[in-house]
Formats: sequence, structure tokens, C-alpha cells
Amino acid sequence: MSQTPILYIDLAPHLGGSLISLAHLLRGLDRSKWAPTVVLSRQNTFTVFEEMGIPVERVRTPQWESPPAALVDVVRQGKTGSLFRSLPVASTLWHFGGSLRYWRRNILPVADALTSLIRQRQPALVHLNNSVSLMRPGLIAAWRARSRILVHSRSFDALYFVDRRLLAPRVSGMIFISQAVARAQLSALKSPPPHRVIPNAVDPDLFSIQVDRAAVCEGMGVAADAPLFGMIGRIIPWKGQSVFVEAFARVHQARPDAMAIIVGDTDTPEGDRYREAVKERIRALGLEEHILWLGHRQDIPEIMATLDVLTHCSVEPEPFGRVIIEGMAAGTPVIASDGGGAAEIVEDGVNGLLTPPGDDLALAAAMMRLLEDQALRERLRRNGRKTVRERYTVEAHVAAVTEFYEQLLGI
Ligand code: UDP
Repeated sequence: MSQTPILYIDLAPHLGGSLISLAHLLRGLDRSKWAPTVVLSRQNTFTVFEEMGIPVERVRTPQWESPPAALVDVVRQGKTGSLFRSLPVASTLWHFGGSLRYWRRNILPVADALTSLIRQRQPALVHLNNSVSLMRPGLIAAWRARSRILVHSRSFDALYFVDRRLLAPRVSGMIFISQAVARAQLSALKSPPPHRVIPNAVDPDLFSIQVDRAAVCEGMGVAADAPLFGMIGRIIPWKGQSVFVEAFARVHQARPDAMAIIVGDTDTPEGDRYREAVKERIRALGLEEHILWLGHRQDIPEIMATLDVLTHCSVEPEPFGRVIIEGMAAGTPVIASDGGGAAEIVEDGVNGLLTPPGDDLALAAAMMRLLEDQALRERLRRNGRKTVRERYTVEAHVAAVTEFYEQLLGI
């Protein structure tokens, strides 16, 4: 039987949940049936696909700029208060000009490079590894090359006029990583293509490891017997590191021996500024010795297994929240923000705890509750692992995605 070629495109400049999730899919793919090729941004240094023996192409991407902000945001950020730009006609012209520049610099050159690549490779399907508005160059390219297109929607990014009217109608199928993302994206589309909700997956074996807790703690600069709280994720305001800090400060008053780690890096100037502001707050609270910044780490399974509690603190709905299922796979009790995909994974009090987004008081109470209640920790540990085995295995994920491929390709 011949293999069906699939071309995967992910143009993220940095490593994040979308690429890690794609790596899980491709690791589980039956290579006697499917022949994957991955296209990445040249800026991205992730080499796991090459390590799996999968052909990788890298395309030049500009330093991705954000699309021109809506007028209201521009004004809110104080970038312009001018009356001129608040007039409706002038404002439309201003933003149209911005959009043209954005398309000319960011979208069309990348679309050109991808079009040649798709024409060369002739895949049966182009699998775009994020939402329509984040995958415009890939969508335009696959459309031009007359390829079948699958959009794997991993974010709440809004669909603008051009996405809804011009690009989305070219898509043969959509995968959403949570019901929340499906609801948000489908509500914007008049006649959506066939679609499925297929949650991300985790390999429990990667996280079921025995670690030398003392050694990992020593490596992090934490006393081995200190109760250890951790937050793992990109440093960006909506992930809520500031909420974690405020909550930890409360816990620390009751338990001065407690320690916290913040794992992850920034990938935007906004993230850099936010990290500085959170650091400033930690200094003001006098907690520099108790809240440690570890930056981006490759050894997440070891860190996860060492934590007493993993906290997820997003102040906006999380599209999915890989770290939550990773924590569960590691048998680490998880507290998650009650919203988006996180609320679909966690059942409060059963396999984790949920707290209202942005509520540091409630988060601190949940952290204390877990510290003090060993039976609860044990229950969450057990049920968290069970949840992963029942709902988030790589096998089930790959089966669902490839069944969908077969449906879309009629094979
Ligand atoms: N991650 C990592 N090292 C870090 C911080 C995060 O490998 O220092 C991984 C984390 O284990 C998870 C992913 O990055 O697999 C983040 O996925 P999530 O869905 O939680 O957030 P996203 O970045 O996609 O918004």
C-alpha cells in the first residue's frame, strides 16, 4: 500500500504548545500509511521532527508583526489619541493602509515560498497547525496550489472579514482542540466545513518517571523538604504569572517554608515587559528568595514530578492547556483556571481543582487546601492519571486525526 503524503505547516517562531502537540501526533503516526513532511519557520530551532526522521523544510518568515490593532486598542494603549484617527472614515483608511503593509511584509512573501513548496511536494492534504487567522500564508499557498486543506485550530484568535469570507471557505476540514475553541471559531463561520473536536494528547510514559527529588531540587536551588508550587508556561500577561505571585505571597505568610518556581520564557516584547513588572512585584513583596525564575526548560517531566502542586493561572480562557494534562500524567495535583479548555479537562475536586481566573485569593485558598489535605492530593493524583489514560492518550489522538484524514480524502 502506498503512503499518503501530508504536509504539515507550523510557522510559529518559537517552541510552544502547538509544536509540542504536533510532535506527539507525528510520533504516533503510522508511517507505513502516511508520509509526513513538516514546514517550520527558519526562526524556530525545534529539531524534534528531524530527530524522528521526518523531512523538514524551513521557510523564511519575517519577524512576525501583530496585525494592526483595532482602533479601540490603539487608543486604549495610548499610542494615538488623535481626533483624526477616531473619525470613522479616516480610521478605516488608516487601518486599511496598515493592513496593506502587513500583508505585503508578513503574509504574501511567506505564501509565495509555501506555494512553490506545496507544488513541488504535491501532498494529498495540507495540515495547517493553527487557526485560520494565524495560518494565512499557508492557507493562501494551499489554495493557490489547489491542495486539500485541514485547519487544526488551537487558539481563540478572531476571524476577520478576510478570514471568514475569503480563506475559511477554502478549508476542507477543521479540528478544534477543545469545545471552547470550536464554539468560538464556529460562531464566526456561516457554513463551516466538516469538523471535529480532538483534544491534545500526552504520552504518559514520558511523565511516569521516577525522579531523585533531592537532586532535582538541588539543581533548582530549592530545599528538598520545602513544599513546592510551580507554574509552567510562556511568560505573557494572559497566562497570569502575576496571579500566581499574589497567591503564593498569601500562602507564604502561613507557610514561610514554601517555595515557588516559575518555568518558561517570554517570546514577545510584551512578555519581556510583563516579566520585569512581575519581578518588581516579587521584590516589593520581599519574596526573591522564595519565588525562583527558571526560564525555558527541557526537563519538564522531571520538574513536574518534583512539584507538590502545579498551578495554571490563565486570566483568559485557555484554548486547551497542555501543562494541565502533563501535570496529571505526572501524578502532580493540579489547580487550573476555570475557563476554556482547562475547564473541560478538570472536574473540580475530582481530578484537580478549579479556581476563578484572576482570583488570587481563591487560588491561595486552593493551594493551602492541597498542602494540608493529603487524602485530597492522593485522590487528585489517582484521578488525574486516570483522566489521561481515558481521554488524552496519543493513540486515541492519532486514531481520531487519521480517521478524519481518511474521511476528508475519501480513502
Ligand atoms: N514548556 C516547556 N518548557 C518550558 C515551558 C513550557 O517545554 O519552559 C511546554 C509545556 O510542557 C507544554 C507547552 O510548553 O507542553 C505549553 O503548552 P500549553 O498548552 O500549556 O501552552 P501554550 O504555550 O500552547 O499556550
